[in-house]
Amino acid sequence: MKKIVVIVGTRPEVIKLAPVYIELKKSKKIKPILINTGQHKEMVDEMLMWFGVKEDFNLKLMEKNQTLESITGKVFEATSKLFKKIKPDLVIVEGDTVTVMAASLAAFYLKIPVAHVEAGLRTGDIYNPFPEEMARRLVSRLTSIHFAPTENAVNNLKKENIKKNVFLTGNTVIDALQITLKKLNEQYKKLPPLIIKNHDFKKYRTILVTMHRRENFGKPHRDIAKTLLKILNTFSNTAVVLPMHMNPKVRSVIVPVLKKHKRAFLIEPPGYVPFVYMMKKSYLILSDSGGVQEEAPALGKPVLVLRTTTERPEGIKAGSAKLVGTDPEKIFKETAKLLNDKKAYLKMSKIKNPYGDGKASGRIVSKLEKIMMN
Ligand code: UDP
Repeated sequence: MKKIVVIVGTRPEVIKLAPVYIELKKSKKIKPILINTGQHKEMVDEMLMWFGVKEDFNLKLMEKNQTLESITGKVFEATSKLFKKIKPDLVIVEGDTVTVMAASLAAFYLKIPVAHVEAGLRTGDIYNPFPEEMARRLVSRLTSIHFAPTENAVNNLKKENIKKNVFLTGNTVIDALQITLKKLNEQYKKLPPLIIKNHDFKKYRTILVTMHRRENFGKPHRDIAKTLLKILNTFSNTAVVLPMHMNPKVRSVIVPVLKKHKRAFLIEPPGYVPFVYMMKKSYLILSDSGGVQEEAPALGKPVLVLRTTTERPEGIKAGSAKLVGTDPEKIFKETAKLLNDKKAYLKMSKIKNPYGDGKASGRIVSKLEKIMMN
C-alpha cells in the first residue's frame, strides 16, 4: 500500500479534503494518513466529526494572536519533522492557506511529491487576497500533480506553463455539500433545532453575510457594516444574519455599527452544518468567502461578492454572483435590486452551479491510484 498524507489546517481545507479522505479510505491501494496542523482550532474539530473523519496527528499549532510569519515557520518545521518520521509516498494539500504553502515546501525539501487539490485559482493580483494569491502560486510551483476544479483553472495553469499532470476534476466543495445535504435530510429530526434568538427565517427575508478577508480589515469592513444598517432601515422585511469570524480585528469594527439594530443578528460562528442550513434558508448572500461563492449557486442563492477581485470568475460569468467590492453605493444598489426586482432575483438564482457535480473526489482518487501504481 502507498502512504498518502492528507494535510488540513483550516475550516475550508477540512470541508474540501474530507470527501477526498473518505474516498482514499475506500482504496485498496492507498493508506491515507490525516495530519491536522491546527492552524484554526474550534472550526476544524467540529467539521472532522461531522464527516466522520479522524485525524492521525494534530500538531496543535494555533496560538493566540498568531502572525503570518510565526504560523508559516511553525507549520514548516512541524510538518517537516513529521514527514521524516512517516515517510509518505505523496502529500495532498488543498487551496491556498499558510498551512498549504509551508507543508508543500517542507515536502519539497524532502523530495516527497505533492498533489494540489483546487489548483489553478488566480485573481492576478498578488496582494489580493493576501496572502492566499501568493500561497497558491508558490504551491503550483512546488507540486507535481494539479487537480483543477474548472476549465478556467486549467487555463490559468497553462498560462504559467504548468501543463503536465493537470487534471480537471470539479471542486470537492460540491461533494462536501452533497454529503452534508444528504446527512441533513436523513438526520434532520435528530439534530438540535436551528435557533437564532428572536429570528424567524420565515418572517423576514434573510440576508446572510460573512466577511473575514484580511485586505478588508478596518474601513472596508466598517463601510460594509454601515451599508447593512442602511439596508435594514430601508427594507423593513429584511434581517441580516452575520456569523462573526473569530478574528477580533473583524469583530471590533462590525459589532459597534450593527449591535443595536433588532433585525441584525450577529452570531457566533455556527459551524458548517448549521451554516449550510442557513444558506438554504436565506434569501440572498453577501460574502467575501471563497467557499461560499461556490456553494451558494449549488443552493440556488445569489451571491454579492464583497471583494474587488475574485479567483472564482465562473459564478460571475454564469450570472449567479456579482462582484460588488466594498463600495457602499454599489453594495446597496445591487442588494436593493435583488430585493425589489423579482425577475432579476430569479435570473441569478436559477443558474446551474458551475463548480462541480459532486464527483470530484472519486476522480481525484482514481487518478492518484493510477499515477502511484505506475
Ligand atoms: N462556513 C462555515 N461557517 C461560517 C461561515 C462559513 O462553516 O460561519 C463554511 C462555508 O460553508 C464554506 C467555508 O466555511 O464551505 C468557507 O470558509 P472561509 O470563508 O473561512 O474560507 P474561504 O473559502 O474564503 O477560504
